[in-house]
Amino acid sequence: MGRSLDRGGKIRPKKHNISMDHKEFIKLIPIWLDGKLDGKRGGRFLEHMENCKECREELHIQYLVKEGTARLESGMSFNLDKELSEKVTAYKKKLKRKHTENVIIYWMEAIAGAAIIFILVLVFILM
Ligand SMILES: [Zn+2]
Repeated sequence: MGRSLDRGGKIRPKKHNISMDHKEFIKLIPIWLDGKLDGKRGGRFLEHMENCKECREELHIQYLVKEGTARLESGMSFNLDKELSEKVTAYKKKLKRKHTENVIIYWMEAIAGAAIIFILVLVFILM
């Protein structure tokens, strides 16, 4: 059900849909740091982060550079390692919450759809 055949007969590797490569990850780091990465890409971003040590290090470096220079100028004390891991954790929570909301909306729509069909059937039977 719901399976669509590619006319060219090419089989697309499924893996490509769930993860991203290093290049894409690195390109998205500044966007993520700005908090502007959306849920769909954000999930894959987190997935790559968890599975790829090199990219985690790259993220770490970019975070230090971005935040570190700003803080040094302001003279505030900081613990960026801790802050970055907190930022990651907060983002995971945010994505999870978003996912839950989407699931709830999906079910509400499904129930509403079923109710409408039920009413139509009922009307049809009674007529
Ligand atoms: Zn990577």
